[in-house]
Amino acid sequence: MKKELDQLKKEFLTLVERVSDRDSLETLHNEFLGRKGKLKGAMQEMAKLADGERKAIGKIANEVKEAIEIAYGGHQAQFNKQEREHAMGSEWVDVTQPGLGENSKGSIHPVTQVQQDLEDLFTSMGFMVLDGPELESDYYNFTALNIPPAHPARDMQDTFYVEGHEKKEGDKWVMRTQTSSVQVRALREYGVPIRAIIPGRCFRNEATDARHEHTFHQLEGLVVGKGITFADMKGVFQAVADYLYGKGTKIRLMPKFYPFVEPGVRGELECFLCKGKGCRVCKQSGWLEVMPGGMVHPNVLREGGIDPEVYSGFAFGFGLTRLVMLKYGIDDIRHLESGDLRFLKQF
Ligand SMILES: [Zn+2]
Repeated sequence: MKKELDQLKKEFLTLVERVSDRDSLETLHNEFLGRKGKLKGAMQEMAKLADGERKAIGKIANEVKEAIEIAYGGHQAQFNKQEREHAMGSEWVDVTQPGLGENSKGSIHPVTQVQQDLEDLFTSMGFMVLDGPELESDYYNFTALNIPPAHPARDMQDTFYVEGHEKKEGDKWVMRTQTSSVQVRALREYGVPIRAIIPGRCFRNEATDARHEHTFHQLEGLVVGKGITFADMKGVFQAVADYLYGKGTKIRLMPKFYPFVEPGVRGELECFLCKGKGCRVCKQSGWLEVMPGGMVHPNVLREGGIDPEVYSGFAFGFGLTRLVMLKYGIDDIRHLESGDLRFLKQF
């Protein structure tokens, strides 16, 4: 009985090598493993055997069946492969045929355009362009910037906290609310004197409308060194105003509180549209608030490892998104993140 089964296996393995097409493979398979196949016949013989012997032969029969199935599967795969290769070979591509639809080139996003313009200006004044993580630790985004836990300023910058990434006890991960998060990182990495800008995306948990969006862009600036004064900051603001809206554009600095500067200012530009007379864009005030900044708070310098008794500096955070909206007269902030081609093709 065992001999017969081995013989069956040998026979199949020899015959299957001679098969040259899928049909004869199937026929052969059927001949051995089909309902009336040779193996089935042998199995029926098994019923006549004594219990112990039947078990042993049953095991061998299963092994033979498995060997036949494996050989069959292998040849099947080979036919599949041949058919695929044949299909690919017969596909003909005319490389001279024109493409589908118009051949559009795409353009640079308006936020990126303004960002690149400002990068040109600042690098010409000796600033480095730095980058920082968008998923930031609570420490760099708030605490290091003189905004400890439970500080009321946190309420105005509600953001997205990310669970499961706690670095250490009490230090949560947040989507950064401001590019200022890179200030202390930069001070620790590069020391002083430093002149750097940090353009990038920021996030807030906002109820979105025409003026509020969960994602927006800022351009942070940081200058720290010996003898840096408020007048240096004003000079930089004036240079930016001249560069963006023409030489002689008026600016003014109004006091404003930010936890990470002392004193802090709300830097305003004379409205480029109405030249100070008052219009819809400047909400009839004649001025546009686009340049918040101030002298870096001693606590922030200390976090960066800098001695505030020796060094001083200023920082600012331009609203890139706002500058873009003003420049192009965009009335709804949501267009900028929409990815809508009807909007993007205008730039
Ligand atoms: Zn105006």
